[in-house]
Parts: sequence; C-alpha cells; structure tokens
Amino acid sequence: MAYDRIYNFSAGPSILPEKVLEDIRDNLMNYQGSGMCVMEMSHRSKVFDTIIKEAEQDLRDLMNIPDNYKVMFIQGGATLQFAMIPMNLMKNGVADYIVTGNWSKKAYAEAKKYGKINLVATSEDRNYSYIPDCSDLPISEDADYVYICENETIHGTTFRQLPNTKGKILVSDQSSMFLSKPCNVSDYGVIYGGVQKNIGPAGMVIVIMREDLIREDLPTWVPTYMSYATHAKNDSLYNTPNCWSIYVCGQVFKYLKSIGGLEAMAKMNEEKAKILYDFLDQSKLFKGTVEPEFRSLMNVPFVTPTKEQDAEVVAATKAAGFDNLKGHKSVGGLRASIYNAMPKEGVAALVDFLKKYEAEHMA
Ligand SMILES: *Cc1c(COP(=O)(O)O)cnc(C)c1O
Repeated sequence: MAYDRIYNFSAGPSILPEKVLEDIRDNLMNYQGSGMCVMEMSHRSKVFDTIIKEAEQDLRDLMNIPDNYKVMFIQGGATLQFAMIPMNLMKNGVADYIVTGNWSKKAYAEAKKYGKINLVATSEDRNYSYIPDCSDLPISEDADYVYICENETIHGTTFRQLPNTKGKILVSDQSSMFLSKPCNVSDYGVIYGGVQKNIGPAGMVIVIMREDLIREDLPTWVPTYMSYATHAKNDSLYNTPNCWSIYVCGQVFKYLKSIGGLEAMAKMNEEKAKILYDFLDQSKLFKGTVEPEFRSLMNVPFVTPTKEQDAEVVAATKAAGFDNLKGHKSVGGLRASIYNAMPKEGVAALVDFLKKYEAEHMA
C-alpha cells in the first residue's frame, strides 16, 4: 500500500479515507490561500465560517435532514450526550431505555442520575448477542423519550428495524454507524454520533435534533454548555468548537458526496461485510458471536475455540500488517471494525489471511 500504511481495523479512533488525508495534507500549511493552517485560524474568521457552514450543508445533503432539525457540533464526545440527553429532554422525569450492549448500558446508568429510567428491553441474558423484539414494548405512558444505541460497537449488533416507541420520541446513538447507510431522520427526535468511529478525528459529537425538542426552560443547575439551546442559538459557535474536527468531518462529507452518497456507501458496506461473514459462516475455526439477523455491518466480533488461540491469531494478524483486531474484553476474541473508509481489498486481504491460518492450524 502507498505510504507503508497498514490495514487498520480499529474500533475508534479509526481509519479515514486516504483521499481526504491527502487533501488535508496538501492544504496543511496554507489552507486555500488563507496563509495559515485550519488549526491556526480563528473560529470567528470568514474562512472558518465557510468551513463550518459547508460542513453542515453537506451533512444535510447526505442525510436529507429536514429543515425542522438542527445540526450541532458539540465537544465531550458521545459520552457527554449520555448526560445531556436526560438533562434536556426530561419534562416528566421519565425515560425508557433499551439496553443492547456496553454503550446503551452506560447511557442507561448515566440517565439514572437524572430521573426515573425504565429498562424496557435488554439482551443481557445472552451477552448482548442479539437485539430483542421491540415491536410491542411496555413503553411508559409518561416517558419523555425512548433510547437506543443503534449499533453496538463492542458487541457488534445492529437494529434492523427501529423499535415501536408508541408515539414517544426516539433517541439514537449512531456513533459507530453514522453515515454508513441512508437514514430517515424524521423517524427520530434525536440522532447523535461521536465522529471518531466513522467520520473524523476524535473529540466531537454531531447532534441532529428536532427543533421543538430544544428547550430554553431548563433547570438552572444545567451547565450552560450542556443545554442544546446554547449550541442551537449560536450555530455551534457559543465557545471555541473543535475546529479541526469540523474541518476534517466536512472533508469526509464532501468525499462521501463525491462517491455517490449514502446509498453507494451502504452498498459498499454490505459487500464488504458479506466477504467477512460468508467466511465466518463456513469456517471450522472462527465463529461470529452475533445472531445473523442482528449482525452489524461495521463491527464484526468473532472467536476461535480458545482464548489462547484468539491471542495467537491477534498476534499473527498484527505481524502480517493487520492491526487493532483484538476484541473488547467483554466479548473476547477478535473484532474487525470495517467502517466506511476500510476498502474492500482490506477485508478481502484479512479473509485470505484467516483462511490460510485456518488451513495451517486445522490440518
Ligand atoms: C465510542 C462510542 C461511544 C463513546 O464515544 P466517546 O466519543 O469516546 O465519548 C458512545 N457510543 C458508541 C456507540 C460508541 O461506539
């Protein structure tokens, strides 16, 4: 590969499109004739104003975001949203959570600090290897919202169908699937995603929120920074935003538009994931840990029969130029994160390697 880069299967921060990295490099010392790097310029400058406005518009184009939704670039990662969501959306002080893995579990635990949180469905009984049936849940009469993590990065599950919220607002953490496929924004009250999984550099979250959910009448103890109204009213420029991340994310949006948008991206992601899942399904050594109908297109956990062999395969892949394949400790085994920017050749090369490994070790 060019530049001696390796195939990087990291779950996050993770791989970015090479074309974007090259463009950034070419503009590093002097961004489009401004005489400075984006890292060096004022967030109130005209040049940056164009960068942030174009980033928002390109995202709106990609996702067909309706006009009554606000787009906000906020710091604190996806984790800060675990608290901001309940702080801002609770009027009755009640919310329903669906827990399908580590990330929704963390969000659930955080929300409990702020109100009465009902666990309406969970897949904990089988170590989060599936998505529970969410077609007829005991949704609370007075729930202010229903919460999901739409793609569990660690457990490798994804919702194929959104839950029936019985008219309540749906809040979705899309961090590890953001822009991986088309999304009907109006099905949600709030969509958010930490950008370091599938979009750009760490340190920022993008929040897409229906305007009527943004409130000014929050309790006075809510920090100014943690009120969505603060960000909405100031077009994400209340204080100094993560300018660099906004710039790079914007470049990724332009790149995604140039390759045909989210439909084209979804097709590529499906092709890529199929290469790996087809291999796992016929392998006698490796086994996917998720029930087939709930498999993520982005994060693919799999195991060998023993922990020792898992570790051996991780070491062997690393030596062969595939990195970050060690599974998270709560699932074990291996995990290949095959985000938007992972080329099909990368997945094919990994499968070739695993095939060879299997042939050599199953004789
Ligand atoms: C990584 C991740 C988070 C946490 O993101 P930070 O930006 O590190 O706070 C939350 N949700 C999901 C689904 C994730 O993958």
